[in-house]
Amino acid sequence: MKNLNCFKIKILISFLFILLSGKSYSQYLIDESTQKHRGDFEKIDEKIFPILGMPITFFKVLNDNQEKNNLKNIIDICSEVDFIYKKLSWEKSPCLSLPWKYDFISELGKPLIYWEYSSGNANDELEKKNTTIILGGVHADELTPIHMAFRIAQTLHDNPMTYRDVRVIIAPLVNPDGFFAHPYKRTNLNGVDLNRNFPTRTWSDYAYKEWFNLKNRDKRKFPGYYANSEQGTRFQTDLIEKFKPDRIISIHAPLAFLDLDFDNKRLFNKHSKLSEDQKKAKEIASIISRNAGNYRIMDFGIYPGSLGNYAGNERTIPTITLELSSSNPKKVAQFWRDFSPGIFKAIKFEFKPNQVADLKNYFYK
Ligand SMILES: [Zn+2]
Repeated sequence: MKNLNCFKIKILISFLFILLSGKSYSQYLIDESTQKHRGDFEKIDEKIFPILGMPITFFKVLNDNQEKNNLKNIIDICSEVDFIYKKLSWEKSPCLSLPWKYDFISELGKPLIYWEYSSGNANDELEKKNTTIILGGVHADELTPIHMAFRIAQTLHDNPMTYRDVRVIIAPLVNPDGFFAHPYKRTNLNGVDLNRNFPTRTWSDYAYKEWFNLKNRDKRKFPGYYANSEQGTRFQTDLIEKFKPDRIISIHAPLAFLDLDFDNKRLFNKHSKLSEDQKKAKEIASIISRNAGNYRIMDFGIYPGSLGNYAGNERTIPTITLELSSSNPKKVAQFWRDFSPGIFKAIKFEFKPNQVADLKNYFYK
């Protein structure tokens, strides 16, 4: 009876709110929370906002006095990866044989590993000019991309003479907490979709509110309560800041196409010409597509907090998403045969100078 009265009072309060403010009580709470967080961030010195959005290295970044690159943590996570490889009947995992680094840990304390491959001197300017970031396991229930990213790392490691004058940054398991969950989870420990949490200009205005107003409020696509709130997002934005890649290839499943990560119908005129970076994204997508039996290329569009928006659209870094056709772990060998030749060609591909430069040469000849 007491509970019932309580419930009635809550209903009455909500009703009064709607009457007085013209919006629902829950909407009011969201606005309050967004404002509160926005307020918090406004207090932070502007200098640590390297690009529009949230500070990139503000939270839980490990410094040298802490456990950054602690070998034991890397061995531990690789042992867990090995265990899952066995469970999925994959060949032995290459995780333990690669020299991972980490600067961030997940919400569960797992190292967010990456490896900087470089055939020679990592400081060589030539190599820095041809840098690719490869991301796997952003959605950790998509198993096949994780296998592919680890295998790319292993192949580069075993064949440095074949892959010269390139630098590749590989983060094969961006969401380890989701990968080690039972069952595997798309989102991270906080239930946030790491491909909807990037600190883009439109995040505050659209990401959370659009998700909240969706009929089914798909939990798998929850963007978080504020942008860049998650370790996995900060890890990715930090890699982009640190390595300033010439291209980004993010591997997902199971939509079965190559996504160009630009041309949001709401932001672009469909008939406008492609910019130089968009042409470059198209070039690398075409290389992978041609080498995989003309795999379908699409403009799937970008979301307020997606990598495509953050890196491809706002930072004009040629960014593509390779969507494999299945998350079925039995398909890894087939996917490797189909896509690895194109991926390695894309890594080695050197973009031509853009059109403006060509014209200049023409006029000054
Ligand atoms: Zn995905």
